[in-house]
Amino acid sequence: METQDLERLVRPNILSMRPYSTARDECEGRPEIFLDANESPYGNGFNRYPDPHQKQLKEAVARIKGTSPDHIFLGNGSDEAIDLAYRIFCRPGIDNAVSITPTYGMYGVAAACNDTEFRTVPLREDFSLDEEALLAAADANTKLLFICSPNNPTGNRFPTWQLTRIISSFNGIVVLDEAYIDFSSEEGLLPMLGSFPNLIILQTFSKAWGMAGLRVGMAFASPFIIRLFSNVKYPYNINGLTQEIVLKRIETSGPETGPVIRERERVSRVLAECPGILKVYPSEANFILVKCRDPKGLYRKLLDNGVIVRDRSGIPGCEGCLRITIGTGPENDRMLHTVTSACGRENREEASSSGQEGESRNSTVFRETSETGIAAMMDLDGKGPSFISTGIGFFDHMLEQIARHSGISMLVYAKGDLNVDEHHTIEDVGIVLGKALAKALGSKIGIERYGFVLPMDESEASVLIDLGGRTDFRWDAEFKRERIGDMPTEMFSHFFKSLAESACCNLHVSATGENEHHKIEGIFKAFARALKMAVAHDRFPYSIPSSKGVL
Ligand SMILES: *Cc1c(COP(=O)(O)O)cnc(C)c1O
Repeated sequence: METQDLERLVRPNILSMRPYSTARDECEGRPEIFLDANESPYGNGFNRYPDPHQKQLKEAVARIKGTSPDHIFLGNGSDEAIDLAYRIFCRPGIDNAVSITPTYGMYGVAAACNDTEFRTVPLREDFSLDEEALLAAADANTKLLFICSPNNPTGNRFPTWQLTRIISSFNGIVVLDEAYIDFSSEEGLLPMLGSFPNLIILQTFSKAWGMAGLRVGMAFASPFIIRLFSNVKYPYNINGLTQEIVLKRIETSGPETGPVIRERERVSRVLAECPGILKVYPSEANFILVKCRDPKGLYRKLLDNGVIVRDRSGIPGCEGCLRITIGTGPENDRMLHTVTSACGRENREEASSSGQEGESRNSTVFRETSETGIAAMMDLDGKGPSFISTGIGFFDHMLEQIARHSGISMLVYAKGDLNVDEHHTIEDVGIVLGKALAKALGSKIGIERYGFVLPMDESEASVLIDLGGRTDFRWDAEFKRERIGDMPTEMFSHFFKSLAESACCNLHVSATGENEHHKIEGIFKAFARALKMAVAHDRFPYSIPSSKGVL
């Protein structure tokens, strides 16, 4: 595109206007006494007007961005550049602008302020860009085409080939908003600025540079466009203090993105494991968009816990979505804690409709066959009494070891055909306890999952448990006596096997020793300790301890 083609795009009044000029712009010499601008003569650091051309600051920006000052406009935030683009190019009531949706809201707001029709083309469901549709939405009066990449609020970046194709095909000005480019894995289009006279690239000091409070945005474009921006802007649009601070900052350090990017990846992983989070969209920015089962509910819960996120669920294309900015590690932890406990609750509510009670980790299981009738209640957090009665004294004594050493409250009441054999009762109690355990665990959110106890001193018993969901049972313990108390020793392994199978857990038991009583007691104690570890809440109780996201 040639300069005369660019001129054709500019509102005639803007093209012909003469900008406000200061006496200091017009003078040639090197004045030492300033009696030209009706300022106060008393120095206090701020009595003089700031440099309207932001010469020093622009030179610093040019240096870090690899461009020259005549390609740079600095505004009171990028929002100023967005507004000025309308004022320069769009004749009110006549011209229009085209953009994508969902995207940054200011393009539409500034359009409305400038009486300019704003047309939007929806992104595809995966937030990719249909450039044919975008270009097709433009007509002879379309002066501006806004694209945000990485896009807010979707977080994705559009491929460079697609952006360049749009810029070279469109017969107007393309405003490419790169507010989040510092967080992206790829470079932006700034190095290509020289090839595209109709391109305006927006960047900002508000995000990666951490200076949102100062309000400095950058626009990069051909010198012709930059001159128009300079003509139209308020002369002193960047105040003196801000120019000073940003200049100092550029001279001392750059944008900070590393920790945010690392946290973004961590937060994305944890959120992806939450049952109530349906989708975590990939992000090249400092926020993530997540689709939630209950966005309003989650938004409310976060707010109740002092965390505010952006509810984007009402925006077409973002149904069900919250936009979460990446904070510091502890801030993200607090957000994640709320999200995972809210999702856990949702999950347990679902579980409760299929038999699970409430929010706490407890369960009740009844089982009745022609051989046994068993009732078991279990509370994994030890809230409740323990009472065991199976009719087999030694078995009761062993189950009490489980309750005492695991911290899990257990009520077990069994009535079996003991007059025939203890076999059914012991095996069925194992089945029922396994079921009660699985049910009490529910979604398994936040549990440690693994437990292991190395040889316990007096008995040399070891137990490994994995509540991950796969069933495996190994038993390595021999008993020389046929019975201990009123319990057949062959039934010990049957009991644990039944329990492991019905709880769907992985259980490895081994024991050696001389004293048979101590050996089996050691096994039950070790099992209890291992179980206690496995059902315990993780120190950061926001995830399911599996890369699959479910257990
Ligand atoms: C935050 C943001 C900006 C920056 O606006 P400033 O006025 O510079 O603070 C620009 N564009 C998008 C898409 C943004 O999200």
